[in-house]
Amino acid sequence: MTIKSRMMPSSLRIISVAPALLILVAMLTLSGCDSKKGAIMETTPGPRPGYDFVPPPRQQEPTVPAPATAQPGDAEQEMARLLAALDFNREFAHLSILASDEYQGRKTGTTGAEAAAGYISSQFAGLGLEPWTAVGLQTYSQPFVASGVSGENVIGTIPGTDPAGGYVILAAHYDHLGLNSSGEAFNGADDNAAGVAAILEIANIFRQTGVKTEKTIVFCAFDGEEIDQLGSTALGQIIINSGLGSKVEMINIDGIGAMGGNYFGVWDEGFSGAAPIVESIKQAGNALGTEVVEEGTDIGSDAQSFDWKYSIPAVTVDWDWGSDPSVWHTYYHTIYDDPGNIDHAVMAQATRIALVSLWLRATKP
Ligand SMILES: [Zn+2]
Repeated sequence: MTIKSRMMPSSLRIISVAPALLILVAMLTLSGCDSKKGAIMETTPGPRPGYDFVPPPRQQEPTVPAPATAQPGDAEQEMARLLAALDFNREFAHLSILASDEYQGRKTGTTGAEAAAGYISSQFAGLGLEPWTAVGLQTYSQPFVASGVSGENVIGTIPGTDPAGGYVILAAHYDHLGLNSSGEAFNGADDNAAGVAAILEIANIFRQTGVKTEKTIVFCAFDGEEIDQLGSTALGQIIINSGLGSKVEMINIDGIGAMGGNYFGVWDEGFSGAAPIVESIKQAGNALGTEVVEEGTDIGSDAQSFDWKYSIPAVTVDWDWGSDPSVWHTYYHTIYDDPGNIDHAVMAQATRIALVSLWLRATKP
């Protein structure tokens, strides 16, 4: 994310949810919930944590068997299957790889970013995702050239059961800041390897469970976010060119792993068309026992380009701090934004909220 301005949260409204959904999720979370309580904030950067780098496979055979046919059942049961299938260790492994020094800070146009795109693409291939042919893409890659740099979005889909049902994008940018003047990598674990790890794990569980949605789910890892949202601008353009502007909406994850945080934030960019997405995210947070606050506009992430440039409904979600911006994402844009400074509990809970929000949007007419 690239913060330009911040506004204090607007009032929180409690959204009523279907009782079955609420009870179901409460049962799921009571037993194994690791939602954060009183996380300790570090105010000065400590030593950079160490971790073992595991070389990622560039190409791999499918690691997930052909998805089982979803058993007929009510929608709540299918959501419960999805939530139960989430594996945070598997998710965090993606983060540890993408936020390792091997990727050299994943700056757009560098070999580090290219390697990160290769890793994400390999994961999509392993899951058997399909290219988004409706916007003219024949592979997972959407290359673009803008502002003098070459970038590449990585995009894969799970087709919905209704061919005319529209598209819900679950997005996260994978690019970051590269190296500092001393050659040290800005690893961007919170910003935004955590978001990419979340979309990879969510894609995985949809394939693993075989749960289907009416709308097509589009998993998108954006490049160029740190340079005025170049990647999302490029994708928005081909969505509009394909005549799908009214058929697409997006939930964009950016900043779900930083330590601390008081609540789950939704940045709606001030676009009225995004209001139904905001409502679904509040509903998900309420069902999962986490406060969701509707923030102001202009977080400077990829929902902004969709909303502002193309009027495609989109929101960005993150963990947030409310009235004390001095502790906001402590390691933001520093070399200390490393896997060792990720709050596992908040990241896991954010992934659950993103999953339920996505499911709500993708199953709605
Ligand atoms: Zn950033």
